[in-house]
Amino acid sequence: MMPLEEAQARVNRDLAMLETTDVAVADALGMVLAETVVADEAIPPFANTAMDGFAVRAADTIGATKASPVSLPVVGTIAAGSVADRPLEAGEAMRIMTGAPVPPGSDAIIMVELTRPNGFDVDLLAEVPVGNHVRPAGDDIQKGTEILHPGTVIGPGHLGVLASLGRMTITVYRRPRVGVMSTGDELVEGDQPLKPGQIRDSNRVMLLALVAEAGLTPVDLGMVPDNEDAIEAGLRSGAATCDAVLTSGGVSMGDFDYVKAVLTRLGDFSWMQVAIKPAKPLVFGLLDGVPVFGLPGNPVSSMVSFELFARAGLRRMMGRLDAERPRVKAIADEPLLRHRDGKTHFTRVNVQRNDEGVWRARSSGGQGSHQLMAMATANGLAVVPNGSGIEAGDAVEVILLG
Ligand code: AMP
Ligand code: MG
Repeated sequence: MMPLEEAQARVNRDLAMLETTDVAVADALGMVLAETVVADEAIPPFANTAMDGFAVRAADTIGATKASPVSLPVVGTIAAGSVADRPLEAGEAMRIMTGAPVPPGSDAIIMVELTRPNGFDVDLLAEVPVGNHVRPAGDDIQKGTEILHPGTVIGPGHLGVLASLGRMTITVYRRPRVGVMSTGDELVEGDQPLKPGQIRDSNRVMLLALVAEAGLTPVDLGMVPDNEDAIEAGLRSGAATCDAVLTSGGVSMGDFDYVKAVLTRLGDFSWMQVAIKPAKPLVFGLLDGVPVFGLPGNPVSSMVSFELFARAGLRRMMGRLDAERPRVKAIADEPLLRHRDGKTHFTRVNVQRNDEGVWRARSSGGQGSHQLMAMATANGLAVVPNGSGIEAGDAVEVILLG
C-alpha cells in the first residue's frame, strides 16, 4: 500500500494553477485576486457628515449649553447628494444630512439631538470640537494606496470596496470547472422504482455539492454504465469541457471495474492502493492534459477520497492559498477503536468546542464505507493512526468539514 502523503504528492504533481482572467466585479465573489488593486480615488471622495445635524464653525459653539444655548441663523439645507450653494460664514449654521458634503467654511457638525429649533434660527445646546462628526476625504481609503493584494479571496466586503471605487472588472484566477461522472450498471437516477440489484446514484449529487462548496464550478457529466467504450467517451467529453474530472466507482478489484482499465490505457495514470480507510483505491492522472480523479464507488469512500486527494488541489488551481480544511486537536469523548491494518483511518466524528475552548470528538455512527448516514451527520474526520485506536480522553487530530 502507498502512504497517503505519497499518493497526495502524486496527485499534486499534475495539478497546475489555471490562468488568470478578467471578470466583472459583480461575478467575482469567491474568486482569488491575481492583481494588486490600487485605489485611484479617495473614499470617501469628499469630507462629509456622519450625522444629521448642523454644519457650523466649532468656534461659534463655545460656551453653548442646554441652559444657555448659542443661537445661529440657519442659512441653508444640504441633503446627501447635493452641495451647499455658498460657503458657511462665521456665526451661521446650515442644516445637513448624513453623507452630505461639509460646506466650505464649516469645520464641525453638531448632531440634531444637541439642537433645538428656534424660528429661523437653531439653538445649539452644547460645544463641539473642530472636526466633530466630520468624515474627511480619504478617511477610509487614500487615493494611491494598495488596498487588495493577489491571493485575496473576494468576499462581499471586497466587492463593496471595488464598487465604491468604480472598478468594473478585476483580474482573478479562473475558477476550475469540475466534471462529476458516476459509473456503474447498478445505478439509476432519481425516484424511479428500483429493479432487483439496482440502487440510486448518490455519489454524483454529493460530489457536485462538494465541488460547489469548495468554491469550484460543478459540471454534471451524468451516469455511465460499466462499459469501456461508454466510459472512454464520457471521460473524453468531460476532459474536453472541464478543467478536472471526478469519477466514482470502477477503480477496485472487481471484474467490471473498467474505469481503472480505461484510464490506465488512455494515459499516464497511476492506480494506487493508498494506506487509508475508507477510500483505499484511487486512480489519478492526466487525460488530454486534464486531471482525472478515479474515486472509489462506495459513497463514504468517494467523499473521503475527494477530501483527501481532490479538494485542496482543485482549490489551489484557482489560486486559493487557504486550500486545506482546518485541522484541530480534539479529545475523544469515547473510544475510537480500530484494528491494526497498516492504514490510517478517517473516522467520521462530531466535534464540538466546549466552554473551555477544548474540542471534543465522538463517533457520528456506523463507520462502514457504505454507511453514508454517519458521513452526512459528521462535521469532522478524525485521523486515527494505525494501531488499536484512540482511548476515551486521548487526543486525536480532526479535519473539520464544512
Ligand atoms: P465500485 O467501486 O464500482 O465497485 O462500487 C463500490 C460500491 O459503491 C458498490 O456497492 C456500488 O454499488 C457503490 N456505488 C458505486 N457508485 C455509486 C454511486 N454513484 N452511488 C451510490 N453507490 C455507488
Ligand atoms: Mg462499480
